Amino acid sequence: MFDESGDVKLDADDKEVWKEHVLIDLGQDTIDLPKIGKVRWSRHRPMEGKPRSITLTLEGGQYYVSVTYEVEVPDPVFLTPFVAEGDAIRVDADLVHYLSDGLDFGVIRNWCDARGGVFDVPERRPGEDIRKLRLERGSGRQEEARKEREKEARERGLLPADQRLPQSKRQMRRRKNLAALAGRVKRRNRDAIHKFTTKKAKSHGLIGLEGLRIKNMTASAAGTAEDPGTNVAAKAALNREILGASPGFTKTLFRYKGDRFGCLVALVPPAYTSQYCSKCRRHPKDDAATRHLDHGRLSQADFVCPLCGHAMNADHNAAINIRYGALVLAGWLEDTETLERLRRLGARTVAEEKAEKAEKAGKLAARKAKAAATKATTLARKRLEKKTRILLGKAPEDSGISAVSPRSAQAAIREVEGASIRP
Ligand SMILES: [Zn+2]
Repeated sequence: MFDESGDVKLDADDKEVWKEHVLIDLGQDTIDLPKIGKVRWSRHRPMEGKPRSITLTLEGGQYYVSVTYEVEVPDPVFLTPFVAEGDAIRVDADLVHYLSDGLDFGVIRNWCDARGGVFDVPERRPGEDIRKLRLERGSGRQEEARKEREKEARERGLLPADQRLPQSKRQMRRRKNLAALAGRVKRRNRDAIHKFTTKKAKSHGLIGLEGLRIKNMTASAAGTAEDPGTNVAAKAALNREILGASPGFTKTLFRYKGDRFGCLVALVPPAYTSQYCSKCRRHPKDDAATRHLDHGRLSQADFVCPLCGHAMNADHNAAINIRYGALVLAGWLEDTETLERLRRLGARTVAEEKAEKAEKAGKLAARKAKAAATKATTLARKRLEKKTRILLGKAPEDSGISAVSPRSAQAAIREVEGASIRP
């Protein structure tokens, strides 16, 4: 797709130029696109490495050009708390503390870390809320007016039944503005999440995340006709908030940035992370003597341990528990009891996750190799059949070859041609 000079070449859809490449000039201020011509653009990043592909997208009324580069990435240095002491290796407790973090996801405070820090995905600004409301209201009004006009035109016989009256220019402009507003909010959120995850992954060697169950969290409250749910509107609003904060996207970013910047990511089962005490590490249900007590998560914001009296913000408490779970799953801390408990909740250690990921990658590579081999075999077989046909076609009528079955003809050709055409 690209030549060595770094100029971008694209395969065109047009069959006549299929074999030729179209040259795209990635200039500083302009980009020369096939069939479109020179377009002004603003380039946000320097070009590094070899360009591989180019994608043009339309989002929120604006065009985006994204160029994929191939770059050599050195293996990251994973930050660990293991230090050599003579011949032995010891775990440095201070390093364990500094290099690890846990993140709790919530709706009120989006991400809370084990040090009490909070990251909120930016919401729409107050002015934008008003603007969105106005645009939506106006857009709805215009749509109603359009339908009214459409109805009238039909009644007068001016508009065939299978045709719609087009939107007015002002209606289209309003919808475009709405899309632009939504696009701006989305880009701002994504940018903030990118910065947050990069900073966290670069400065830590281990991050604990809840193995979020977004599907469960955002399950509809509507229920069924026989069994209607309660608080449907409130739950729908909550779902919008959860999805607006993009926990799944954030998690995906952490997983790939962890690999890139050298930070392990441990997935801690979300059950009970907000109910355990982060100080005494106990839950009343763990012991028969305290089983009758309620857990310490008193409200959305408050945690007070019924066993040791420790009180702190509930999200912060959960984040510390998630970090603790991550330490155990990563083997930075030995606590067989917690490890077994987490395992019962379906957790896997960081090493197991890594092994599974490697196995998956291996399987994928094997599948790809197999597919390539199958393709090569099919191609070779097709070539062989073609040769057989040519041979049979060329054979003089009295030679008797046409009477030979294709199978034995193939065998004969194989013998003649040897390994060269054998798949
Ligand atoms: Zn406690």
